[in-house]
Formats: sequence, C-alpha cells, structure tokens
Amino acid sequence: MKLNCEFISEINGFANILMHTNIIALNNKVKNKLNKVYSNSEIQQLRFLIYENALGLTKIQTLSVQEIELSIEQETKLFEIVERLANNEPIEYILGETEFFNLRFKVNPAVLIPRPETEELVDWILKTCTLKKPRILDVGTGSGCIPIAIKHNITESKVYGLDVSLKAIEVANKNAQLNGAQVVFLNQNILNTEAKMLPNDLDILLSNPPYVRKSEKSLMAANVLNFEPDIALFVEDRNPLLFYNKIAQLGLSLLKANGMLFFEINEALGENVRQLLEELGYKNILVKKDINGKDRMIKANI
Ligand code: GLN
Repeated sequence: MKLNCEFISEINGFANILMHTNIIALNNKVKNKLNKVYSNSEIQQLRFLIYENALGLTKIQTLSVQEIELSIEQETKLFEIVERLANNEPIEYILGETEFFNLRFKVNPAVLIPRPETEELVDWILKTCTLKKPRILDVGTGSGCIPIAIKHNITESKVYGLDVSLKAIEVANKNAQLNGAQVVFLNQNILNTEAKMLPNDLDILLSNPPYVRKSEKSLMAANVLNFEPDIALFVEDRNPLLFYNKIAQLGLSLLKANGMLFFEINEALGENVRQLLEELGYKNILVKKDINGKDRMIKANI
C-alpha cells in the first residue's frame, strides 16, 4: 500500500518538497536512535504515537503502509520528537498530553505525568464510594487527573483539587475544561493551611503527595529524574510522612462522620503510614497493593 499526501503545502511561497520514503528504512532509522534508551517493544509503542503526531498516520497505516511521501516539515518534526526521546524526555511532555482513566489530559513539566498506579487508586475510590453526591478534596492535584476522573464518573459529586503550584493549577483548570468536568481548584500550600481555609464536611479526603525519599533518587529512571517536577516527587528522608501527617490531621476536622481518607503511598512505607493513621485515631485502616504487588495505597475511616 502506498500513501500519498493529499496536498503540498506552501512554505514562504515555495512548494514544500516531498521525499519518497520507504517506511521500513524510516523505522530502522528511528529504532537506531532510540534503542539506547528504549526496548524494542517500547519503541514499537512509541512509533505509533510519533507517526500519528508527526505524519498523521493511524496505527493501522503505520503497520501497513510501505512507502510514504514525506514533506521536509514532517521529517523535521518526526526527528525532533525522536531526538527528544533519545534524550530521555518523556513522550507525554513532548506531545503535551496523555491518557488517564480513559480521559485525555494536558501535561507539561509543571505536573507529574499521571501514573497507572494512580488509576488504581481512583478505581478503588470509585468502587468504595456508594454516595451519589459525595464531597471530595484531592490534595496535591497536579494535572487534576484524580478529581477530574472522579467527577467524570460520579457526576453529582462536588470535587475540589488543591495544589501549591500555580502552574499546576493552570494545567488542572485546562484539563477540567477539556473534559467538561466541574472541579474547583485551589492554589494553596497544604503545609501552611488550616482547616478553616479548606472545604469541610468532606466525604472523602485524598492525596497522592510527594513520597519518594531523596535517598531513593538513585533507583529512579532518568526520564523521571531529569524531567518531572521534584516538588511533586521528593521528601526529606528524615520526615517522609510530612504530607500524610498534615493531611490526616486536617482530615480529623474536615471529614464528616463516616468520612474516608485515601492515600497513594511509597511501597516501603505502608506500615509507617498505617501506624500514623492509627495513632491519629483513624479506623478500618487497609493497605492495598498495586498490580505489581507493591503496597501502594491506603484507606481509613475517621
Ligand atoms: N509513583 C511516582 C513515581 O514512582 C511517585 C509519585 C509521588 O511521589 N507521589 O515516580
């Protein structure tokens, strides 16, 4: 199958030259640039995204086309993406978007790229919450992926998201609009916040706060370390539960009777978070593993 571009664009009055390109040769060129950073199966997945974005090809076309007419513009765009990937930049930041809970989200380096384990947390919350109109606050909302996914699935919920970063709040507001979800975002530093400054009468208080200890940096991939926001990831080793402590304390006055607390957690600190919540008087504490078998989330009742 051969695919011809339907039009030749005019750049500065000159016809853009089309180059006849063999797709297998192109695939090899892409692969050679990426195989120091990515495995073959990752390259195959990335190729779908790159070709869709730079060349407008669907997945099926990427798999079935043999020859393609490429404009210089398209080729330049394609290899710009490939170079950035080879430099460990996450594809989500390069393309400026990603998927979370079957919804599309804009992302930039001001926000963490939504993770599959956080989808599991949202799934747990949705399965646990039987209320029709719950009031929910997400602390450290980043891209807004958690409250937006919840609002999308519990349409009558009243959902708030809070973040210390104004740039993150801007991304979150854009995402709420993009997904037609009404979420109220608050630009506040939770560590300096008192209960009276926050929405109260909550049914659910939740957070995926920074929880990676600085000593764990050596275990992290370059694409996370070099590109994602430190402020969303790291805590000091001497006080790794800083955010859990503050949020759970606030929960004591913000949550309704029967209200629930949900956290995403560091896989090594499940027992520590459980103990903290117990000391604060929370009940029915349950640590849950993610699909990789790691302690990843916790819930408790007030
Ligand atoms: N799960 C994220 C990671 O491993 C960390 C998220 C967080 O600190 N809240 O990169």
